[in-house]
Amino acid sequence: MEKNTAEIIGVEVQQSNLGSYEEARLAFDWTDEEKRFSWHETGQLNLAYEAIDRHAKSGLADKIALLYSDPEREESYTFEQMRQESNRAANMLRGLGIGKGDRVFIFMPRTPELYFTLLGIVKIGAIAGPLFEAFMETAVRDRLKDSGAVAIVTTPTLAERVPAHELPELKHVILVDASKPVEKEAAGAETDKGLLPEDSPFADFHALMHEASTEADIEWVEREDGLILHYTSGSTGKPKGVYHVHGAMVQQAYTGRIVLDLQPDDVYWCTADPGWVTGTSYGIFAPWLNGVTNVIRGGRFSPQDWYETIQRNKVTVWYSAPTAFRMLMGAGDEAVKQYDLSSLRHVLSVGEPLNPEVIRWGHRVYERRIHDTWWMTETGAQLICNYPSMDLRPGSMGKPIPGVEAAIVDDQGNILPPLRMGNLAIRTPWPSMMRKIWNNPAKYEEYVRIPGWYISGDSAYMDEDGYFWFQGRIDDVINTSGERVGPFEVESKLVEHPAVAEAGVIGKPDPVRGEVIKAFISLREGYEATDELKAEITKFVKEGLSAHAAPREIEFKDKLPKTRSGKIMRRVLKAWELKLPAGDLSTIED
Ligand code: ATP
Ligand code: MG
Repeated sequence: MEKNTAEIIGVEVQQSNLGSYEEARLAFDWTDEEKRFSWHETGQLNLAYEAIDRHAKSGLADKIALLYSDPEREESYTFEQMRQESNRAANMLRGLGIGKGDRVFIFMPRTPELYFTLLGIVKIGAIAGPLFEAFMETAVRDRLKDSGAVAIVTTPTLAERVPAHELPELKHVILVDASKPVEKEAAGAETDKGLLPEDSPFADFHALMHEASTEADIEWVEREDGLILHYTSGSTGKPKGVYHVHGAMVQQAYTGRIVLDLQPDDVYWCTADPGWVTGTSYGIFAPWLNGVTNVIRGGRFSPQDWYETIQRNKVTVWYSAPTAFRMLMGAGDEAVKQYDLSSLRHVLSVGEPLNPEVIRWGHRVYERRIHDTWWMTETGAQLICNYPSMDLRPGSMGKPIPGVEAAIVDDQGNILPPLRMGNLAIRTPWPSMMRKIWNNPAKYEEYVRIPGWYISGDSAYMDEDGYFWFQGRIDDVINTSGERVGPFEVESKLVEHPAVAEAGVIGKPDPVRGEVIKAFISLREGYEATDELKAEITKFVKEGLSAHAAPREIEFKDKLPKTRSGKIMRRVLKAWELKLPAGDLSTIED
């Protein structure tokens, strides 16, 4: 394993909410963070109240909370308007008999209605279950069934993938016309309150919202009461239903302040869909808990569209993912030059390891360092991060946030010294830690099998200066001729080669070496898949990394298998290679 900690990209933004990392760590106390919430004074707690109503009532009523656009719509909503619309959604759901603890799913494209609904669910103490709009019927059914959902808010088109007749607990299918704002002419107005005949589960969102009052009583809850149920990305196996509580807000707000570095005048854009945890913890909760203007862009990804979104909205803080940055890099420097991106102050990434090559490129073309952040659906909020006020070592996911202790431990829970690869573990608990895996207590126990530690399932090492370096999923670490090789460092070296767009690396069983390294590679435009190129790429890794980490086999693919959230699915590559069944594919891209 190569431990290259020499390359450092220095601090360009000295002023940040965190200040000195070491000092912040020493002075930190979670109870100070709790004092920032109104419930600390009143004893009345609800995340949606803290995110919206509190601001609407304390001077930010007319500040823009949501700046929405897609190719057909362009709307903005103030904190006061968000308060009113989410109250309507709360009343709509209450009117259907839905209440505290009920699971209510959302299955629709990113539109303002999605955000009103999610906040409305939280306001009544129900548990939100966001689903990514690209899910097909089996994926939708499995999640609704597993969670015992009582209602789903969806669009007429997507409702075709909701097999209501197979889901006895699902009482309501509320239909949103996603192309229309809330106050559209209510399509179902002629039927009473938008409800269709007696025994039909279908209801018209717009008619119900239209009828509903803009004032609502908030359901005051406990910190430990349910907030959201997120199914994981399915990179390593069947997705797990991760259960989070209202108390997560303490860490979501805190990391919004010190990791996203949100400041009052920021215009913040998180590109993740709320179907994934980043799209709620950091696409909804963190920005609004901090009273910041939140940009939501609907529609499809294209480099032009994204750069245009930054330029038009003067985005200052941008949170995205390696897959997107790699695609933007693929689109080239010329695409960047056509736009004015000078509003950007702080750029961040999450979801997969961020290749050093991408950071170098970003630094050159955006003149900003891309800050990697590591966390998981299960952790509810960021844990190990790069901060604006800190030197950045490309390829490292940074250091644990103040208030959190991370370590590399062996399978018995012994803490390993610096530079040794092992289980990435977090000292339990932290405010946003999941409280259970829905319907699967045995799975939960696997994460906390070593007393005092949460075992992430990721493999990493810590360098002598306390920076953490991701190596791969524990199961993906390759053992070749007695050496342990993390797939990430091989992949990162591969993408430095000009011909390589993306790479996925696996260990392939080998009678002599235990495993050999096999790389699946998609090429950049203009490169031919030849044996000469294979040899050249192998040589490139041998010389740039090490002989034992160089792939023995290379296979070119037009596309690598990815989750819908853009993560390379190495288990699918492995299954292909070994001609084994691929397992749960509910989250795979087309
Ligand atoms: P599943 O648990 O269903 O297999 P998943 O682990 O991909 O899917 P998520 O919770 O969305 O589901 O992703 C968390 C994982 O993503 C982490 O365990 C880690 O492997 C990877 N990850 C997230 N951020 C980073 C990062 N900054 N660097 C490296 N890996 C990251
Ligand atoms: Mg996982």
